[in-house]
Amino acid sequence: MSIKKTILAILVSFVTFGCSKPENSPAEKPNIVIIFCDDLGYGDLTSYGHPTIKTPNLDRMVNEGMKFTNFYSGSPACTASRYALLTGRYPIRSGFGWVLVPSSPRGMHPQEITLAEGMKQAGYSTAMFGKWHLGVTKTEYMPLQNGFDEFLGLPYSNDMIPPKWKDIPLIDGNDTIEHNPDQTKLTKAYTERAVDFIKRKKNEPFFLYVPYAMPHVPLMPGDDFNNSERGKYGDVVEEIDWGVGEIMKTLKAQGIAENTLVFFTSDNGPWIIKNEQGGSSGLLRDGKGSTWEGGMRVPGIAWWPGTIKEGTIQMERASTLDLYHTAFELTGQKAPSDRTVDGRNIMPLLEGGKTEDIKPYFYYGLNNKLMAVRKGPWKLHIETYSQTGKDYFNGKLPLLFNLSIDPSEQYEVSDDNPDIVAELQQLISSHQKRVASEPNFFDR
Ligand code: MG
Repeated sequence: MSIKKTILAILVSFVTFGCSKPENSPAEKPNIVIIFCDDLGYGDLTSYGHPTIKTPNLDRMVNEGMKFTNFYSGSPACTASRYALLTGRYPIRSGFGWVLVPSSPRGMHPQEITLAEGMKQAGYSTAMFGKWHLGVTKTEYMPLQNGFDEFLGLPYSNDMIPPKWKDIPLIDGNDTIEHNPDQTKLTKAYTERAVDFIKRKKNEPFFLYVPYAMPHVPLMPGDDFNNSERGKYGDVVEEIDWGVGEIMKTLKAQGIAENTLVFFTSDNGPWIIKNEQGGSSGLLRDGKGSTWEGGMRVPGIAWWPGTIKEGTIQMERASTLDLYHTAFELTGQKAPSDRTVDGRNIMPLLEGGKTEDIKPYFYYGLNNKLMAVRKGPWKLHIETYSQTGKDYFNGKLPLLFNLSIDPSEQYEVSDDNPDIVAELQQLISSHQKRVASEPNFFDR
């Protein structure tokens, strides 16, 4: 090959597959697995400090991979957080502020480009086994119409059951295969389908999304999981841990672990108003439904043997929004440019470096309102809410915290830092203006 041709080949490979992994060929496109818990808190795993819940497989995932200490879900609520993960966009861009109920007329807008659709464009096989919660009243809202080749799961939360709601269906593809299924069988069923999918697709690139229904109430552990010192909550988390172990074991046994990124996280913080039935946000304040840290900062564990250095603790901020960009880049694509996609590619973080500081802030939203922003260690709340009804600072607003020094948001420091307050207020108002001026897909 002439020097000219060699240079051209190198250039083409850079342009096609991105600069971070120029050695990738289409056959080596990595598989991507996202395991997404429902209402698992920051403090609910052994590796995040829980004293009695046993999670040996997730411990191994941490020891062989990377544990994030500043990882966020895109929302403190179920539907909105799933929207954020699957579109890479803040929920405020969709109008999905909170949760859909079975009769909600809205669903995932056809113009959204889901992560699954993006992976399909790159030639991936795609599957989802678990909870959807992005619209059910029209077939076009369902997973198979949004990029997934295969789906087994519930269309909404596992507590939307009789007598309050008429029925919860277990759906395979587009077909209801059971009404009001025995939920103690779900974690096992989703895991078995995930394992089967991996075995069937081991020779082609695949995207696998496993959004477990647990540990959302009602807590329904399988028969083999009844021994946790933490009671039923511990039982369902320990069963999820078993499921993660099965998925990792299968990837290793099929010889594809070194070509697979697995990311484990949660849709939002623990549902603390459920008392013993709800989880723990550890040292963080509050839980699900709030934009205090406990509502949105969640466990985040990345595993990719040979690519992610074993036993790394990652303290840089990252979020589920970033997984969208990262997946696009890993499959030789760019995230869509005809709309705002939030987040950024975190492969540099996963490979032990830093990300480009293009978006050095993170917005916390609730009910289609911006509530807070974080930049570096600083977090400014312009409004707060808690399902507990507590107003922790007696109505004072705005509230400023240094999350590096004070992750528990106990020591309010706005009076001492007026310049930082002004800078963060400016960030919020410019974001609000931008969101208001951009086209969205929900006014149908
Ligand atoms: Mg949830």
